[in-house]
Order: sequence, then structure tokens, then C-alpha cells
Amino acid sequence: EAKHQGKGRFRVYTCAMDQRGAEQARVAADLRTALDTGQLHLVYQPIVDITDGSLHGVEALVRWDHPERGPVPPAEFIPAAERTGLIVPLGGWILAEACAQAVRWQRRLGAAAPETVSVNVSARQLREAGFADDVAAVLHRTGLPARHLTVEVTETAVFDGGAAVDALRALKDLGVAVALDDFGTGHSSLGLLRTCPVDLLKVDKSFVDTVTHGGEHAVIAAALIDISNGLHLRAVAEGVETAEQAAELRRLGYRYAQGYHYARPLPPDAVTALQTPAPAAA
Ligand code: C2E
Ligand code: MG
Ligand code: MG
Ligand code: MG
Repeated sequence: EAKHQGKGRFRVYTCAMDQRGAEQARVAADLRTALDTGQLHLVYQPIVDITDGSLHGVEALVRWDHPERGPVPPAEFIPAAERTGLIVPLGGWILAEACAQAVRWQRRLGAAAPETVSVNVSARQLREAGFADDVAAVLHRTGLPARHLTVEVTETAVFDGGAAVDALRALKDLGVAVALDDFGTGHSSLGLLRTCPVDLLKVDKSFVDTVTHGGEHAVIAAALIDISNGLHLRAVAEGVETAEQAAELRRLGYRYAQGYHYARPLPPDAVTALQTPAPAAA
């Protein structure tokens, strides 16, 4: 049982799933403290218009500096937060913080501020009753116009329709944009693009990684830009790491991209410094 998990002699007899659950419970308990004591902060990765190198938007990404463990990657603590339900208050904090920051940029930078701030939202949050109302309340409280917010969800979160799709529809009614994150890696169904209120596809890094390898390796990235254009969706290429990938994506007709080639996730003040962006490397 959970209370025995910490004791070495019981661990041997515990199946891997239980150990995993107990580990996640421990991470989540730590995370609750982190949320309450200010160990969390957001960084912002630029989303670039690759036709002219200008800053289009930013994606908010949460960071945890654990007092003993140092930085803990989101890939570790987000699943724990999802499993335990802590993602709901955590996600609420992330959303409010990102919206408040977007307003600060607008005040400071005016027209040079990022046009949109994207916030990752977990399936669990999306299914929470009143999610869209909570988003509306945050927008109202922070003073961020809805059109400057994009919510990123995965295909898997909306695959089975129901409450999640209703929530997306309510968000769209508010004027918030919806992005399908890591597109092509989840429960992909192209039919989803018609039934789900989506504005934007984030083409997964795995398709960007091979885009310069020629032949069949570029086929999916090429097809997804055509589908996006045909359905009047915007597409963002994720995880662009080299100038060669950037050039190939431009050649395929991509307009937006994100990745270490352009910028790492940055603290808010560094985003300010991007207001006169360098032209994208060829
Ligand atoms: P994601 O939403 O797909 O975010 C993109 C991830 O790719 C980020 O990792 C980002 O730092 C990384 N990345 C961006 N460009 C490159 C690149 O050129 N090369 C490589 N190798 N990686 C790149 P991060 O920040 O570790 O986040 C990982 C995942 O954790 C996110 O994937 C998202 O699913 C989740 N996550 C992060 N922050 C939040 C959050 O605030 N809320 C929720 N619900 N999930 C979050
Ligand atoms: Mg994302
Ligand atoms: Mg992504
Ligand atoms: Mg990803």
C-alpha cells in the first residue's frame, strides 16, 4: 500500500505500476508545496514567422526549480500532476500567469508584443466542468483580450469527443484560438480536423527532424501543410533545430515555426529583447 512505498523492504514485492503510482504521488505532494511556495515559473519560447523572421507569438512552458533536486523536467512532473488531479490548480496558475505576462508585454512593447501567448492545457483540465468559464474569468481579471490567447491540446485529449470538444467550442466562442499540439503522434484522425473546433496544427518535431532527409522522410511534413492550407488552419512546425530544416520548411510553405534554431524557451524579459528580431537564417 501507498504508506509502505517508502520502505525499502516492501518495494521488492511491489509491482512496477504501484511503484510508479507511489512515485507520482510523492512528486505531486512536492509539487503542491512548489505551487504554494513559488518554486514554479514560466518560460516562453518564441513562435517565429519564418517568412520574415518576426516574432509571432510565444508558448508558455512551466519550470520547476526544486530546492534539493534542482530543475525537474515537465515530462516528469506534468504526468504526475495529471494522475493526481493537481494539474487543475497548477494549470489554473499557469494560465493566469501567462495571461498576466501577455498584458505586461503589451503595456511595455505595444505593437511589438507577442501577438499570441499559447498555453498547454491537459485533458484533465479540459474535462473539468466550467473550464471555459474559468478561462473567461482569467481573461477578464488580467485584462487580456481573448484573441491573444491560444490553448494547446493534444489530439488524444479530444479524440473521443464529449466534454473536451464542448470545452473547445466554448473557448472558441470566447474568441480563444485552439491548437492541436504534437500533431501526428497521438490518436490521429484527420476527421478530427473537421469535427473539432481547431485553428492551428502544431506539426510534431518528429516530422521536422527528418524533413531534410529527402524522399519519403519529408512526405508527412509536406502533406500536413497542404491539409492545413486546404482547411484554412495555421500550421506551426515544432522543434526546428537547424537552418537546413528551416529552409526546407519555408520551401514547403510553412509560415510559422518554433525551435532551438530560433530561440530556446526564455524568461519574460528576454522575450522583450526580441522585439527587433534578426532575420531568419537561410
Ligand atoms: P510541448 O507542449 O510539445 O512543448 C514543446 C517542448 O519541446 C518543450 O519542452 C520545449 O522546450 C521543447 N523544444 C522546443 N524546441 C525544441 C527543439 O528545437 N529541440 C528540442 N529537442 N526540444 C525543443 P518542455 O518545456 O520540456 O515541455 C515538454 C512538454 O511538457 C510539453 O510539450 C508539454 O506537453 C508539457 N508541458 C510543459 N509546460 C506545460 C504546462 O504549462 N502545462 C501543461 N499541461 N503541460 C506542459
Ligand atoms: Mg505545447
Ligand atoms: Mg508541442
Ligand atoms: Mg511536444
